Amino acid sequence: MQVSRMEAKKQTCLFSFGLIADIQYADADNRPNFRQNCVRYYRNSLELLKEAVRHWSGDSCASKPSFVMQLGDIIDGFNKRGGKKQSFQALNVVINEFDKAGCDTHHILGNHEFYNFTRAEIASSRLLSGINFETTEVDTTCSCISELIPTTAEVPPAAYYHFSPCPGFRCVVLDTYDVSTLGHDESCSIHQDSMNLLRSVNKNECLNSPDGLQGIDRRFVEYNGGMGESQLRWLEGVLQKASNDQEKVIIFGHAPFHPTIEVDCCLWNYKDILQLLHSFSCVVAVFSGHVHFFSHFVDEKGIHVVTMPGIIEIAPGSNGFGTVEVYQDKLVLHGNGEVKSCVMSFP
Ligand SMILES: [Zn+2]
Ligand SMILES: [Zn+2]
Repeated sequence: MQVSRMEAKKQTCLFSFGLIADIQYADADNRPNFRQNCVRYYRNSLELLKEAVRHWSGDSCASKPSFVMQLGDIIDGFNKRGGKKQSFQALNVVINEFDKAGCDTHHILGNHEFYNFTRAEIASSRLLSGINFETTEVDTTCSCISELIPTTAEVPPAAYYHFSPCPGFRCVVLDTYDVSTLGHDESCSIHQDSMNLLRSVNKNECLNSPDGLQGIDRRFVEYNGGMGESQLRWLEGVLQKASNDQEKVIIFGHAPFHPTIEVDCCLWNYKDILQLLHSFSCVVAVFSGHVHFFSHFVDEKGIHVVTMPGIIEIAPGSNGFGTVEVYQDKLVLHGNGEVKSCVMSFP
């Protein structure tokens, strides 16, 4: 009797969440991507988001998500050609759709956010979703943010934060671009140090090109970035506390940090993050976007690593969102379109 009751308890879905990545919406005609190896469906991406939102808010969804994770690149850098007005317009259009999901949306910062907006603009937009959650950190690492914000009395919160959607579980949202040329003013030391790092490895005139770079060095391109020392120390503290409290941790970020997935899209200082995650046993899964394809594998320490497809590159007729049910002993990913359903058991 005791055992069966325990089994039954194990099988209760504790909470669930929606996953979607790289919507990159723009009110623009279809065109090839940067590498010229696939088409970007700029307007269709909004239709696919609408379908995802209808799914999450409708009766067909077995377990209504408590939140949706928008994994970054919410609108395309293409918008900036129409000026700030177009960027903000596109952002509003997409966020309005998320508002219909009937639950919170967490927005993660990707490279395309910084093609459109400065960090100061992001800080006063709805993209800084951490402001509503347990964020206690302020962004003190960068001079250009506080200088650009008119009311300097309040330093904006950092874009990384954590929250606990249910006892025993903690979700951590990372900022995989806090060290980057992107999002920082040219006068900012973070921009300058990032540029020096890139130029020391990447000899191409266009720093978005990995041409000539070998193996793991191919990650040193301008559309990638890294995580700074203060974010790493913050993450260490969060993981330490979660371990002490026997919580399981689910990590979300735009750029992946497992180079085996796609080295051209890997975080610059991926080793620091992997070392940190692997020094604790509380991390059960990592979800990212940026690579624009679905993948799932279990890394050498038993962490489930998932990348989501880029909605922008999915042709009309298919889709690429997911819904994750969280159980005491596993995550169950229900895939739609290019996302494969799978069961991710904890070690
Ligand atoms: Zn993208
Ligand atoms: Zn990206």
